[in-house]
Amino acid sequence: MSVAHPQAMAVGDGIFRIPCPFDVDGVVHLYYIEAPEPALIDTGVATTPHAQLALALRGVGLDLASVQHILTTHGHWDHMGGHAAMRAIAPHATIHVHPADAYLLDRLEAHTFGYITYMPRALGDAQELASVTSKIAENIVVPVRADNLVLDSNTISLGGGRAVRAVHVPGHSRGSIAYYLEDAKTLFTGDAIQGMGGGPGRLPLVFDDARAYRATVLRVANLAPDRLCLGHAFHGLPGGSGTDPVRQGPVARTFLEESGQAAKAVEEAMRRALANGDPGFIAAARIVLAALADDLGVARDQEGLNRRAIPTLHAFYREQVGAPPPV
Ligand SMILES: [Zn+2]
Repeated sequence: MSVAHPQAMAVGDGIFRIPCPFDVDGVVHLYYIEAPEPALIDTGVATTPHAQLALALRGVGLDLASVQHILTTHGHWDHMGGHAAMRAIAPHATIHVHPADAYLLDRLEAHTFGYITYMPRALGDAQELASVTSKIAENIVVPVRADNLVLDSNTISLGGGRAVRAVHVPGHSRGSIAYYLEDAKTLFTGDAIQGMGGGPGRLPLVFDDARAYRATVLRVANLAPDRLCLGHAFHGLPGGSGTDPVRQGPVARTFLEESGQAAKAVEEAMRRALANGDPGFIAAARIVLAALADDLGVARDQEGLNRRAIPTLHAFYREQVGAPPPV
């Protein structure tokens, strides 16, 4: 299957997964829930609904225009960039988002002074900052009106006895929400839980709150869903839960354990790096990465750093030293 022309795949219980490519090598997994009031989990980037989603759903006899609920897992560009296009395709659909991420639907600067720029700002890389800033402007359309601010434990009825319950899962972003489809015991987590992150040698991407991320992993493990539907193909530990964006049964449990282990390893390595005082963020990051290269197989470049891991390392550093985010 060519990912440039994605297909909608049934993952069970009237749930379809649609893998949508974006940027150079990214793939975001969107989900369609069949119900009298059909729901869509996230919308990808600006072009995703027209260029990919509509066709993919038509291929399985579904109509994107029938969507009545747009359930935003969080406000990052690859999950909300297509909201404005969806508003045109399904004008009566309700856009749901947690209040702590609603500002990301409002203005470009929420992104260009936020999460996506933490790495270049922490490293003082002006060229990378300019590149990220123009990428964001090309891939999202803002403002888009949020119709419903979802709070933890709110229930959203999809009709016919189907409903999703909101679970606040902060860490990756402050306003991350997982949606629990009760009748299928399926939890759509967006980027809230990441195992070892989006590829080999990486770390889970935790932008905003390291402590909250660890609490989120525990909370979801206690919820014990039968099926986890992830926003990307997050990796487990080597020989562990694999890379499937849909983890079921014992594999879902393993993935949650791995996510907890990875986050704990970063926390402990950061504590050790700061045990004799704060050497500064970059020095602390090098020490942590050296430790994690052995323990978790995390990759390092010639400078002893890992650019994709910088936002996470900064969040765990901030948790210990109380520094502000790198903006
Ligand atoms: Zn994200």
